[in-house]
Amino acid sequence: MLNKEGNTGKIERIARMLVKSRNTVVFTGSGISAESGVPTFRGRDGLWKKYNPEKVASISGFKKNPDDFWEFARELVIKSEAEPNPAHYALAELEKEGVLKAVITQNIDMLHQRAGSRKVYELHGSLEYVDCLECGEKYRWEEIEECLRLGEGQTGSNQSEGPVCDNCSSKMLKPRIVFFGELLPSDVVAKADQATRECDLFIVVGSSLGVYPAADLPWLAKSHGARMVLINTEPSEQDHLFDVAVYGKAGEILPEVVSGYRRMKKGI
Ligand code: NAD
Ligand code: ZN
Repeated sequence: MLNKEGNTGKIERIARMLVKSRNTVVFTGSGISAESGVPTFRGRDGLWKKYNPEKVASISGFKKNPDDFWEFARELVIKSEAEPNPAHYALAELEKEGVLKAVITQNIDMLHQRAGSRKVYELHGSLEYVDCLECGEKYRWEEIEECLRLGEGQTGSNQSEGPVCDNCSSKMLKPRIVFFGELLPSDVVAKADQATRECDLFIVVGSSLGVYPAADLPWLAKSHGARMVLINTEPSEQDHLFDVAVYGKAGEILPEVVSGYRRMKKGI
């Protein structure tokens, strides 16, 4: 149910919905990290305009040539030196307030946790650990990131090459993220599904809602009776599901929602 009311009115309405909510769940896509300098995939300036997803983000592409993935990873998270932005911090605040019960994210950048969110379901995994597919050696992301930045070293690489396993010299070093062609982690999906079914308010932030099965969640929330909110810079592929859709930057809108919520709770 979209209408012509301005953003200020919509932000007030979202704040009021939060005050009434007993259990809110937020679902985030790459748009929430755009203001941290992490490029999105699909939006207007998305990375898919520059890279071929089959080559750089599918499991078959990775096994054929991991260097293509690592070149892409450099651009995605390393060049940007990303830090959480006000949108990530606003969600961490809402969790502390007790109204936000979980963040379900499609992102792999770990910025929610770095902003202070505790209950985060990462549907597509994260960069926290990297495994050698040949010998099973496990690395922390920081170790890999360090060599990618240096461009050389024992586990190192030059600008166009990915890291090499210290233990067996294989190049098959794969972060624990979900590539195209791989299944989503079933334990995380089960928890995200349950949180979605139980919530009474479901807020989507920065997602085109075009990547399945993650994009099934808004429908699941709606079919279980949740009120529905979308915060995105442009219309998503599922705008018809939402009670309120506000178009603008998450880093500007979410902090306003949180201050509206606090004002209303105090009865000001
Ligand atoms: P997407 O790239 O398909 O869509 C991003 C959406 O965010 C677009 O609709 C765009 O309009 C919106 N957006 C852009 N800037 C915004 C802002 N400042 N505030 C609010 N909205 C904004 O992203 P997706 O739907 O999340 O799906 C792409 C897949 O790519 C996901 O599965 C995700 O795992 C992955 N991905 C992750 C990261 C990351 O970890 N940060 C980055 C890129 C892609
Ligand atoms: Zn190895």
